Amino acid sequence: MFKSKLFLKAFSGMTVIIAVFSLTTSLYLLPAMDRHFFEAEERSAKTILDNVYFMAKRSWLFLENYRESAIDARKREIQNILQLAESYITNLQAEVKSGRTTEDEAKARALKELRSFKYGHNDYIAVSDYRSVLISHPDPKLNGADFSRVKDIKGTLIVTPMVEKAVQFGEGYHTYWWKRLGEKTPVEKLSYCKRIPEWKWVLITGVYIDDIEKEMQTKKEGIIEELRQTLRGIRIAKTGYIYIFDKKMNMIIHPNQNIEGKSVPSMIDPTDKKPFFNKLIGVADNDQPLHYKWDKPDDPGNYIYDKISWVRYFEGFDWYIGSSVYEEELSKNSTVFLKKIISVTLAALLIAAALVYLYVKHLLGPIARLSHVAVRVREGDLTVQSGIKSDDEIGVLSKTFDGMIEQLRTNIETLDNKVKERTSELEIAVEKLKTLDELKSSFLSNVSHELRTPLTSVRGFAMIIKKRIEGVIAPRIQSLDEKTDKALAQVRENIDIIISESERLTDLINDVLDLAKMEEGRMEWKKEPIDMAELVDHAASALGPLFSSKGITFVKQMSKGLVVIGDPDRLMQVMVNLISNALKFTDKGSITVKGRQEKDFVEINVIDTGIGIMPEDLDKIFEKFKQVGNTLTDKPHGTGLGLPICKQIIENYRGEIRVESRPGKGSSFFFTLPSMDFNINNQSLKNQIIE
Ligand code: ADP
Repeated sequence: MFKSKLFLKAFSGMTVIIAVFSLTTSLYLLPAMDRHFFEAEERSAKTILDNVYFMAKRSWLFLENYRESAIDARKREIQNILQLAESYITNLQAEVKSGRTTEDEAKARALKELRSFKYGHNDYIAVSDYRSVLISHPDPKLNGADFSRVKDIKGTLIVTPMVEKAVQFGEGYHTYWWKRLGEKTPVEKLSYCKRIPEWKWVLITGVYIDDIEKEMQTKKEGIIEELRQTLRGIRIAKTGYIYIFDKKMNMIIHPNQNIEGKSVPSMIDPTDKKPFFNKLIGVADNDQPLHYKWDKPDDPGNYIYDKISWVRYFEGFDWYIGSSVYEEELSKNSTVFLKKIISVTLAALLIAAALVYLYVKHLLGPIARLSHVAVRVREGDLTVQSGIKSDDEIGVLSKTFDGMIEQLRTNIETLDNKVKERTSELEIAVEKLKTLDELKSSFLSNVSHELRTPLTSVRGFAMIIKKRIEGVIAPRIQSLDEKTDKALAQVRENIDIIISESERLTDLINDVLDLAKMEEGRMEWKKEPIDMAELVDHAASALGPLFSSKGITFVKQMSKGLVVIGDPDRLMQVMVNLISNALKFTDKGSITVKGRQEKDFVEINVIDTGIGIMPEDLDKIFEKFKQVGNTLTDKPHGTGLGLPICKQIIENYRGEIRVESRPGKGSSFFFTLPSMDFNINNQSLKNQIIE
């Protein structure tokens, strides 16, 4: 199949089209998909980061809510306490008003009562005047202490803001850092203050909220642990992860146990020796991630692998949440997928090629079969048939072709039979003709022989009669009378005709006999060297009188040493025949005989300026008894056997005779004869030639 050019063309053409199609598609699609995959992975990395961010935010909000409600509960608690204290003081003031007690005594009772009042975790009520001087405090050292300028460890004024709020608004809250009773380290304290305007007092009570913070802290730790567990299960791409560190660069969550929970500000980027975490903080909430080189767990210390980190800052917890992933992992999925696509494409290409192969084979198989059959037919095998019977154009073609072969075979068979028939008919006819020809030849030579003897007598007696008339009768009856003179002249003329006609008849008979002899191979050929120039001279001198009587010039142009071996009489016969024919058909001008050596033969050329020969007659004149021209009007001048005899003689020597002629201009007869081989080792022959 692969030898078929058509198949190769169709197969490669279709395969190339499919290949180009799939290649352009994949060349366009693959990079786009690669990009798409990378971006998708990048997006998912960011999305994970965002999700973790929101998880942190939710946890923070939860903590904040918790703190607020816890504080609210405390606020309500201390408000209630001061309301209680206020109503107690209001009762005392009512007693003063009703005169049951004095104001001073009432104040002293109130202060005493308040000083000893305890609730909660050793919590108490203090009283300040409008100048922030404590007029009551459970700690006796602070009794009467001026707090107008006293600040807590964070620099916040402690009492003054409360007095101001109370004087201005009647009540207020304030937080500051304060030591618990009997303890050394200050903790955060939430205080509530209330004004007692009649006495220009400000009641102050507070609860320590460090327990809330503690609880918050425990809760926060729980949240961090929960987050840690969650993040442990999250992977970005293959080995990418989420980490969290705070503003103080404490690593809060990190999959690497070595740095989790540690302070990492000193960690540096090994590629440029700059603090690494500052860089991460630098890209926080940027659109652009941090690109850097890092090592791999299975190739530690080799900082050549591209990594990406996106970082978000979460204010609530003061956290930097980062996601970190190897760049190659982002494109890994796409690489895997691309590999799959490429292999699927290749497989599809192979399958397509196979299908194309089968399809083209199916399509071209009949054509191949058809061309094979055509070749066989051309080689002559008419028994083949394509035998294809599909219903498409190829089927029609094959059916027609098979029909044509069938038709051709029957035609050739019929033709063969006819040719056979004709051949056998022809063979019979040829046989008949041969016998007829032989019969004719023997008849002709017999008749000629039989005719020659009486003809000799006729001619001989006519000559004698002529002699007698000229010698005896004519002198005696000279001018006897006019009638006798006329009769004598008539007799003389008739005798001449008898003589010339009997001579012509003798010539004819001689020619017929010569020809018959030659045709039957009975002619005896002498073998002598003949100088062609001499031969031409002899012929010309024999015909000399005819030349002078017709006034025609004879020209001889013969090369020297044209010698052939042959029968001089026969070659003379050829020469005389050609020259006398030339004379016969030429009325004015010249007759030229040329002779030249041509390789190993001699060519003689007899040229006349006579009437010439019509082209259609050129072949006929060498046939027996063919005299061309109008034989009815033109008196036949010869026997019509001259040229056939010449042909016989020349061909006997394996020479050739032919003619060229232009009617009205003249004819030119050529004949060739093998020249004598001078290498013949025959001294006597050579001597003869030299003579
Ligand atoms: P014949 O004896 O009639 O000349 P040939 O066989 O010699 O017979 O010639 C046959 C015929 O060829 C002639 O009758 C003549 O018509 C033609 N022929 C031969 N030689 C010449 C010539 N030199 N010029 C013109 N016609 C020629």
